[in-house]
Amino acid sequence: MTAQPVALISAGASGIGLACARALTETGYRVLTLDIDAEAITRFQEEFGESSALVCDVSDASQVEAVFHSLVDPHQRVDLLFNNAGIAGPQQPVEDIGVAAWQSTIDIDLNSVFYLTRCVIPLMKSRRSGVILNMSSSAGRYGCPMRSPYVAAKWAAIGLAQTWAMELGPWNIRVNALCPGSVGGERIDRVIDCDADERGVTTDEIRRMYQRQSSLRDFVSPEDIAAMVCFLAGSGGRMISGQTLGIDGHTESLANWLDP
Ligand code: NAD
Repeated sequence: MTAQPVALISAGASGIGLACARALTETGYRVLTLDIDAEAITRFQEEFGESSALVCDVSDASQVEAVFHSLVDPHQRVDLLFNNAGIAGPQQPVEDIGVAAWQSTIDIDLNSVFYLTRCVIPLMKSRRSGVILNMSSSAGRYGCPMRSPYVAAKWAAIGLAQTWAMELGPWNIRVNALCPGSVGGERIDRVIDCDADERGVTTDEIRRMYQRQSSLRDFVSPEDIAAMVCFLAGSGGRMISGQTLGIDGHTESLANWLDP
């Protein structure tokens, strides 16, 4: 009998990560997560099992090192690492962004990708098999005004996916970057509110502006992203590595359409 494959999702206790956890479970994965939100972790454990999740700030290298083995060692393998953790960061003109806000966005959106991947690679190399997905964003391909540290981190996630695809391909480890467009839900509602405040326009105007950014004129759903994750994790993704995959209804432009 083949042992159950294991997926580790960073920040998987809610949002997109949780939708991916549910979809991967349906395809037969045992799903594990590290998330900073203790209440969300408790709910995750109720749904996915006692040993499926631990509280961890994945932007803190020492916390990741301290909890990684407690979570993963009982399962002895990680078949899929989904570096999903990320925050929107400050939404301000670059000259107004404070150093602390810049640093914390880079710590969560970029440095956590490095911290987790370096823990997982030895396990994948020893089995000569694995899939790593870095969560980027349309903003990581096209740039996005008022979101400098987010763009810097998401652009880097693509560069790392391409670099690690080269470095790890000989071990049969595939690495790709995912670029969702704006995902419908509470998070984009917060981004829209903040953007509207900063620009002094209505939230409806900002919402329409965001929806016009994609050819399909709609927001992405977490389930759209989960479907891509499952595809790449499965045999259909066997020869897909080093790619930057849009799940975005075709982003036409993230340019600022409300110039002063
Ligand atoms: P979300 O705001 O819903 O947060 C998901 C989880 O992240 C939460 O459970 C939260 O507790 C956890 N988290 C936050 N900081 C953490 C930390 N330091 N350590 C551990 N866990 C932490 O996010 P989401 O909308 O599900 O986004 C997930 C990923 O998708 C992010 O990388 C985001 O940049 C990316 N993305 C989102 C959108 C979108 O529109 N929502 C679009 C493109 C890309």
